[in-house]
Amino acid sequence: MTATNCPECGRPLAIDVGFSPWCEGCEWNVSPAEQGKTSRRSQRREQRRARSARRLEESALAEAMRSAGPSLSSRLRAMVAMVLGSAVHAVTLLLVLTAGWLATRAAAGAPALWPFVPGGLLLAWLVRPRFGRAPRKFVLPRDRAPRFFELLDALASAVGSPAFDFVVITFEPNAATSRVGFRQRRVLYLGLPLWVVLDWPERTAVLAHELGHQVNHDPRRRIVLSTSLSALRVWLDVLTPRRDAVHIAQVLFRAAVRAPLRLVAKWLLRALLRLSSSSSRVAEYRADLVAARLVGSAAAISALDKTLLLDACMWELRDAVLWRSGSDVWTAELDLLSRFPARQRDRLRRADRRSVPGVYSTHPNVARRARFLESRPEVGVGSFSVPSALLDDVTAEFAPVLRQMDAYIRGRVERRLTPAQIDAGMGRRGNAAPDWDRT
Ligand SMILES: [Zn+2]
Ligand SMILES: [Zn+2]
Repeated sequence: MTATNCPECGRPLAIDVGFSPWCEGCEWNVSPAEQGKTSRRSQRREQRRARSARRLEESALAEAMRSAGPSLSSRLRAMVAMVLGSAVHAVTLLLVLTAGWLATRAAAGAPALWPFVPGGLLLAWLVRPRFGRAPRKFVLPRDRAPRFFELLDALASAVGSPAFDFVVITFEPNAATSRVGFRQRRVLYLGLPLWVVLDWPERTAVLAHELGHQVNHDPRRRIVLSTSLSALRVWLDVLTPRRDAVHIAQVLFRAAVRAPLRLVAKWLLRALLRLSSSSSRVAEYRADLVAARLVGSAAAISALDKTLLLDACMWELRDAVLWRSGSDVWTAELDLLSRFPARQRDRLRRADRRSVPGVYSTHPNVARRARFLESRPEVGVGSFSVPSALLDDVTAEFAPVLRQMDAYIRGRVERRLTPAQIDAGMGRRGNAAPDWDRT
């Protein structure tokens, strides 16, 4: 520890070596990413955005706390979102019908129309609803982890939700759930960087939270909205130029065709995200409540609290890959957790409390989620208990999975690095986020 003074209030600062300095008095540098936005115009814009995002946050929290079902305005927003989502899919239908009409006209004596038929069908295929694909990598099948699936099934029946069809192991610092394919199978994405830092009650809380998403009426998970959101993302991808225009014809085509279509797709996507943002946050609170009812508020809150450490954990994992070959990345992560200074945890909590998720976000910040759970004293300690023998078996099932992911990540990162990159200081804290291979 060394000492220096806060540049804002002059108070002596305690510095934890290897971590950002910050001031406990005036909260200078609590969120290092916020520093440096000095232009007045951008500050005003940020303040305006933050005000409207804060209103959204507070109204979602108030609605979740009311627990009397969605308000009239929420229901209206959900309805408008549904209409817009259906309009996105109507484009596909319209293109198919147009191609059919052109084909009948062509067959009835206008052969010049034939070439337009495949064009219409191709466009319809391009803008079609996207159901998502079942991942192929790191899928954990039932027969490889029967005891883990036993735990998942027991939790699912306690929550009153359908069971997960399969589990995908990822290197993301989170967990998630979605439905994929025509059959809309339920998939749990389990990020090992999160899984490793949690204790068993916290893990059960995270699993129950993800199952809670199957029963919490999140509008973004309904099929019309979810498939139209993914279709719009593809539209935007296709309509966004990747290279500079070289010919005048390219410039004209972009200005006259691509740009207006892109604007419409962008507007639709933003409108859908904005309309469903509040209900998605309420759904997040509901999923938290499902978890807390099962395993108690304390475990649900401490799992949320640990998510605040995960950015630092991801840096540690990267450092472990680059500089430590002796032990696996998970040991390095747990080691960081055990020596993480209490002052730095306090900084992360304060940064989270000050943070306001954007207006398109689906997740409230951790402080609000904890406040919501604390406001439900009826939740108590939870009703779900797991025999320790089952937990031991699940731990044993995860051991090869952890080893496999450790080897995979090391291989991917090492293959991408050149000696020059290593010399350029890839191991320094504070560089841009590493390009982890998303599974
Ligand atoms: Zn200060
Ligand atoms: Zn969630």
